[in-house]
Amino acid sequence: MHRLDFRKCRLHLTPFGNYIHNQSYNGGRTKLHSNLLLGDLSKFGRVEEARQLFDKMPEKDEFTWNTMIVAYSVSGRLADAEKLFRRNPVKNTISWNALISGYCKHGSEDEAFGLFWEMQFDGRRSPNEYSFGSLIRMCASLGLLLRGEQIHGCTVKTGFDLDVGVVNGLLAMYAQCKRISEAEYLFVTTPLGQRNNVTWTSMLTGYSKNGFPYKAIECFRDMTRQGNNSNQFTFPSVLTACASVLARRVGAQVHGCIVKSGFKSNIFVQSALLAMYAKCRDLVTARGLLEGMDVDDVVSWNSMIVECVREGLEEEALSLFGKMHERDMEIDEFTIPSALNCFASSSRIGIEVASSVHCLIVKTGYGAYKPVNNALVDMYAKRGVMDSALKVFEGMVEKDVISWTALVTGNTHNGCYEEALKLFCDMRAGGVSPDQFVTASVLSASAELTLLEFGKQVHGNHIKSGFPPSLSVDNSLVTMYTKCGSLEDADVIFNSMEIRDLITWTALIVGYAKNGKAKESLQSYSLMVASGIRPDYITFIGLLFACSHAGLIEEAERYFDAMRTVYGITPGAEHYACMIDLFGRSGDFDKAEELLNQMEVEPDATVWKAILAASRKHGNIENGERAAKNLMELEPNNAVPYVLLSNMYSAAGRQEEAANVRRLMKSRNISKEPGCSWVEGKGKVDSFMSEDRRHPRMGEIYSKVDEMMLLIKEAGYSPDMSFALHDLDKEGKELGLAYHSEKLAVAFGLLAVPSGAPIRIIKNLRVCGDCHNAMKYISRVYLRHIILRDSNCFHHFRDGKCSCGDYW
Ligand SMILES: [Zn+2]
Ligand SMILES: [Zn+2]
Repeated sequence: MHRLDFRKCRLHLTPFGNYIHNQSYNGGRTKLHSNLLLGDLSKFGRVEEARQLFDKMPEKDEFTWNTMIVAYSVSGRLADAEKLFRRNPVKNTISWNALISGYCKHGSEDEAFGLFWEMQFDGRRSPNEYSFGSLIRMCASLGLLLRGEQIHGCTVKTGFDLDVGVVNGLLAMYAQCKRISEAEYLFVTTPLGQRNNVTWTSMLTGYSKNGFPYKAIECFRDMTRQGNNSNQFTFPSVLTACASVLARRVGAQVHGCIVKSGFKSNIFVQSALLAMYAKCRDLVTARGLLEGMDVDDVVSWNSMIVECVREGLEEEALSLFGKMHERDMEIDEFTIPSALNCFASSSRIGIEVASSVHCLIVKTGYGAYKPVNNALVDMYAKRGVMDSALKVFEGMVEKDVISWTALVTGNTHNGCYEEALKLFCDMRAGGVSPDQFVTASVLSASAELTLLEFGKQVHGNHIKSGFPPSLSVDNSLVTMYTKCGSLEDADVIFNSMEIRDLITWTALIVGYAKNGKAKESLQSYSLMVASGIRPDYITFIGLLFACSHAGLIEEAERYFDAMRTVYGITPGAEHYACMIDLFGRSGDFDKAEELLNQMEVEPDATVWKAILAASRKHGNIENGERAAKNLMELEPNNAVPYVLLSNMYSAAGRQEEAANVRRLMKSRNISKEPGCSWVEGKGKVDSFMSEDRRHPRMGEIYSKVDEMMLLIKEAGYSPDMSFALHDLDKEGKELGLAYHSEKLAVAFGLLAVPSGAPIRIIKNLRVCGDCHNAMKYISRVYLRHIILRDSNCFHHFRDGKCSCGDYW
């Protein structure tokens, strides 16, 4: 027989202690004695002993059963609790609540709700404020809004919505689920006299956590004015609100209340107070508080370090860091990373200071901590020191998704897109599941490389991973799809988004513009402004690009003007280039000249390119010469000004000057960048140069080209020899044209891309005029949608027409 040892047990401290202590443990105990003992055993978590006693009790009443169920439920032995519950012949509301509360506390939402509905169907016992309370608390902590709302409905039906405890729970639940207006409604509809300090604190915390700091401060004032006492949760919430808006003076008033309230030595209150002063840049007071603290609180030390670095006091930050080490404080995963994060985000702090922290980390042995290494990789990557980032990364024994994200994002930021994709694939091959940050980053890299299939796979995997919606991922998706010319997909994502910001709208506006959909671009702009979002520098580049490609002079002038007068944005070279391009295309060189003289910034290459293109179109040699000369100076290795100028001369019959330009180009050792086209099909990318014969299926491809040329000639196409090489006879010229890289790529596309699917081609240079014309015929003859992205914009060829309106 197992004996209870009362000397080891803390039972004698309970009110019943002496009474129980004086009873000998034998069968002669009354039911009351046993129940009292059972209650105490349960209270102190001695579940096994409680169960032995329970099994021995000949007579069991409601209390006996419920106490045992509570004992199991509180200690997390829910299967045992449920077994006993099912056997219990005298189930009452307490029994139901005990089990429901157990499931709730352990986050077993399905079981908890199952029981709750069962209790209602059972009908013998109704839920009360405790049943509701447990379920609401679980909904709050797990963020289960839908279920929380169901429970809210039940409380209304049963009248428990008038219980202040239930209301407090619901209020906190809505605030936790970011439904601040619902929380506010509950708060406002609760009469002043019924609100207790929990009600006030829940509302205040809701405001503070959901980004309404001023309302939180207001709420604190009202609460105090109404004579409600603050507690250890009220103060940290209102202090966080003060810190977020740098309201030091209000924070100091709260400090006064804390001193009066007696919560001065509460560690959470102290830590929040210190963080408030530190964030409000009052480092002197913060330091005073830090020194006066009874215990070494790591959170407080961390806030102090972060703020010191932010204020540019790296030495002080490092000395605090050293002191933490001296005091043997447990440096947690936030301490070093928070210092390193500051180095990462502030380019003001020299990389050599960051490197000295790195040395310190190695010396003090913190180099073994994963979060520390992750922060190091992130810091070096953000500062663009990729080799150091890679070195730390490679030295890590264990890498997690954060380590990989830091490196992938670093590569994307630094324009190493292929490396970013390669790392992402390595990460997945290593069994690490991507999170939303790395997903957003790798989508940006796919967008830059126009790898639609790859981007789609990343998108698919993201959907499968079940992450909650993320603005940054959605924004990257919209950008990726528009940059890959897949506007339908971009639209689907855009329409499904619950929240859209400036980046979302701008991605769509620029995307439409680059894909030749000027009308849609301008419409999106109107919708964006109507939804209260202000455009920025990049939004206007998109808008003006759209206008210039659609020849919308009036609209462009209006936007160009509004940019400065309404939004206070000074136009940059990109905006001028669009406007000059627009006037140049329409042949209005005076207007273009006028703008050129107006520019506050030096005209850059894009501006001169626009003038050169316009001069060529209108045969304006004088302007062309000037633009070409400037462009040759700005981009000494660019062959385009030489080629265009030479073509202009020969078009005007000035063959000698044309030859001179070509000779100059040769003497300066400048060669035309070879045209190259890529076509994506079946998850593989094939590239073609002009007259390329390296492809394994070249025989098929060349006969497809011949067939293609024959069919489109029948349909009315005639080759434009001005795009051919000069030193060939007519037949040679025609053949040369036929084997331009774009044409080889589209022939391969017709062979390899399933019919019905669009053929996607990317070209490194601008598409040549002859190929552009041929593509239009091919799209009609073969009934295919051809999407060609050249170095300037997208061309959607469909039904014999191009989305650019032959204006590129
Ligand atoms: Zn061509
Ligand atoms: Zn086009």
